[in-house]
Amino acid sequence: MSQDSILNTKAALDLSTSDQLFTRAQHHIPGGVNSPVRAFRAVGGHPVFMQSAKGAWLTDVDGNKYLDFINSWGPMILGHAPDIVVDAVRKAAGDSLSFGAPTRREVEMAELIKKMVPSIEKVRLVNSGTEATMSAIRVARGYTGRDKIIKFEGCYHGHGDSFLIAAGSGALTLGAPDSPGVTQGVALDTLTAPYNDLEATERLILANEGQVAALILEPVVGNMGLVAPAEGYLQGLRELCTQHGIVLIFDEVMTGFRLARGGAQELFGVTPDMTTLGKIIGGGMPVGAYGGRQDIMDQVAPAGKVYQAGTLSGNPIATAAGIAQLTYLQEHPELYTELDRITARLADGTRQICADLGLNYTVNRVGSMFSVFFTDQPVRNLDEAKTSDTEAFGRYFRAMLNRGIYLAPALYEALFISTSMTDELVDQYLTACRESMIEAHGL
Ligand SMILES: *Cc1c(COP(=O)(O)O)cnc(C)c1O
Repeated sequence: MSQDSILNTKAALDLSTSDQLFTRAQHHIPGGVNSPVRAFRAVGGHPVFMQSAKGAWLTDVDGNKYLDFINSWGPMILGHAPDIVVDAVRKAAGDSLSFGAPTRREVEMAELIKKMVPSIEKVRLVNSGTEATMSAIRVARGYTGRDKIIKFEGCYHGHGDSFLIAAGSGALTLGAPDSPGVTQGVALDTLTAPYNDLEATERLILANEGQVAALILEPVVGNMGLVAPAEGYLQGLRELCTQHGIVLIFDEVMTGFRLARGGAQELFGVTPDMTTLGKIIGGGMPVGAYGGRQDIMDQVAPAGKVYQAGTLSGNPIATAAGIAQLTYLQEHPELYTELDRITARLADGTRQICADLGLNYTVNRVGSMFSVFFTDQPVRNLDEAKTSDTEAFGRYFRAMLNRGIYLAPALYEALFISTSMTDELVDQYLTACRESMIEAHGL
C-alpha cells in the first residue's frame, strides 16, 4: 500500500466526485447523509465519500488516500478489511444471508461473549448499539418494576427516545426532550447527572428513592471526546446501585473488546449488572448485544415477559464477522499492550507538539482511544469539554484532511486506533499534526 499520499503538500485535495455525490445526496437523503456526524457540519466543508479501505488506509471516490483515525467509529480494531473477517463473511454468504431460525453461530457467539466478558451470564444479540441500550433499560424496568433511569451528561447511548433528554438546570430538576419528537412523558422518566460527580448522583437517587430502575453510563466516555472515570468513581456508582437496588448498566458499545478483551469493566475491575455491546462485536457488520446477570436476563421473552425481538437478529453473516474478529482478539491478548503503546505515542506526541507551540491543549487517552481538546483546562465532564475552541478545531481538521489524515469530523469525538497503526505511521501523523496546529492557529 502506497504511503506517499500522506503529507500531501497540495493546497487542497481534489474532491470533485465527493462534491458531486454530496449534491445528489442532498436531494434524496436528509442532509445528504444517513447519520448526522458524517455531514461535516461541525468542521465546515463537504463530506468525503469513501470507495475502499485496507489496513490503516481509506481511499475516497476521487482516489485520495487517508490515514484513518475513525475506523468506522471503533469497529475496525484490526484495521480495515482484515482477511480473517472478510474470509469468514465470504464463507458464510454461500450458505444463506438469513434464515429467521436459530443457527450454530449464535450459540458460539454467545459462548465467546461470555468468555470475554464474564459479568455476562446470558446475552441477546440485536442489530445495533441503539437497540442494545433501548432493550437493556426495558429489561431493567421490567426486572425492578420501576420507571426512571439515570444517565450522564455527555454520554451517548444511541438515538432511543429515553436517551435524547437534556439535563435540567440543576441536578434535581426534571429533564426536557433534547429532540423534537421525544415526548414530555418520556422526559419525565429520564434523570441526568454530571459525569464524574458521585455526590450529585447520590442526591438524584435519594430524591427519587425507590423509583430508579437503572443507571446507565459509558464507563469510559467516548462521546464527549475521551473522558476517563475519576479514581473510585465507577466503584462508587457500583456501591450506590447495590445499596438502592438499581440495575447498573455499563454501555460498552465503544469500549467493549477495545480497552481490554473484557472492556472497561475488566480494565477498572468493576462489575456491572448489565452490559451493552456494539461496534467491535460485529467486525464492521450491524451487530449489537445486551446481557448480564442471569436473573435479570431471564426476564426477556420467551424466557420471561419483557418483549424484545428482531427479524435479522443473530444474522448469519453478521455473526460470522463478529465471531472471526472476537476470536482473534480473544486469542491475541498481547495486541492490547501494543495498541496501548502505539496510542500513547500518538497522544503524548500530540500533547508535546501543543506544548511546544504554547497551546497546552488537553489530550485524554485510555488504551487505544484518545482525544485532543482545544482547551488548556482539564476535561473530566461535559462542561469542561465545552471550554474547547471549536473554530480552531475546524481549521485543524481541514489542515489534517489536506495532509491525508482522516480525523473524526467533530471535536467531541474520540479517535480510535487499530492494530494497523505502525511506528512509521505515527511519525507521519506527528509531522502532519505539527504543521496543521501551526496552520490552524496562524503561528
Ligand atoms: C455508538 C454508540 C451507541 C449507538 O450504537 P449504534 O450502533 O450507532 O446504534 C450506543 N452507545 C455508545 C456508547 C456508543 O458509542
